Amino acid sequence: MTARIIDGKAEAARLRAQIAVDVAELKRDHGVVPGLAVVLVGNDPASEVYVRNKATQTREAGMASFEYRLPESLSEHALLELIGELNARPDVHGILVQLPLPPQISSERILTAIAPEKDVDGLHPINVGYLAAGKAGLVPCTPLGCVILAKTVHESLQGLDVVVVGRSVLVGRPVAQLLLGENCTVTIAHSQTRDLPSTCRRADLLVVAVGRPQMVRGAWIKPGATVIDVGINRVPKDGGGTRLVGDVAFDEAVEVAGAITPVPGGVGPMTIACLLANTLTCARLRLGLSVAA
Ligand code: NDP
Repeated sequence: MTARIIDGKAEAARLRAQIAVDVAELKRDHGVVPGLAVVLVGNDPASEVYVRNKATQTREAGMASFEYRLPESLSEHALLELIGELNARPDVHGILVQLPLPPQISSERILTAIAPEKDVDGLHPINVGYLAAGKAGLVPCTPLGCVILAKTVHESLQGLDVVVVGRSVLVGRPVAQLLLGENCTVTIAHSQTRDLPSTCRRADLLVVAVGRPQMVRGAWIKPGATVIDVGINRVPKDGGGTRLVGDVAFDEAVEVAGAITPVPGGVGPMTIACLLANTLTCARLRLGLSVAA
């Protein structure tokens, strides 16, 4: 058996195209252009690339992009002041502070300072609380992308046995809560889980977010299961250089699974597309409109 490859790039392009249509409609009917502010502190090269890609795709969707590149030495007070200004600006609908932040700045204090209704990363305690309570709020982008990709395989996720490996605030926990909201039966596994291989083998839908290259082997996967691999790991390549791999041993898993996301080209592209979707959601909610389908 060879699994169907879930094309995250194509799905993300489809979502971005739909967002561009909705943005144009919002502009035409309400005179509002959704605006996303992205704040980068320091010069981490990977974060630099993410911020550039976010800004480009924001503009391509017809939204306004406001970028702030600030020095590594920035004080927490100065960043809190900027967040206060962005919270007050009517042309800014979403605010994203790129993590990680330098050690003198508490990410918890910064994330909590962002107005919950502009929290496009879904990490403000109020939005975290809404998700935990099963209520509507802004949801973290990568988990949202995982659920959208799973729905390209399963018309309904209802009743599926799901195992999420990883319990981070950013990915594992929110993806588990979203899937619970889809009426899945969810198990959350982590570094202290006993017999991880047999836990994984119970899953109709296996979501892996651990940050360990190719940890989940083909033999851990139930035949025909859907596998969503969130991991992004850079490893040495034969013959020099590096390459990206996921948390799942793709070559083995593809022989057992029914459908699987590749790395790169799976969950990764969905993250920015979902960031744009959240920015549009913020703009629509500000206008008192329902959230676009
Ligand atoms: P974290 O390091 O915050 O969390 C990792 C989780 O994996 C923890 O809950 C940890 O368990 C668990 N874990 C670690 N080792 C094992 C093990 N041997 N067995 C079982 N569980 C284990 O990582 P993130 O959630 O932030 O990210 C996970 C991966 O996803 C990374 O590769 C990251 O790069 C990628 N990522 C990709 C994104 C995308 O856009 N595609 C976005 C965000 C992340 P415990 O809690 O017990 O320590």
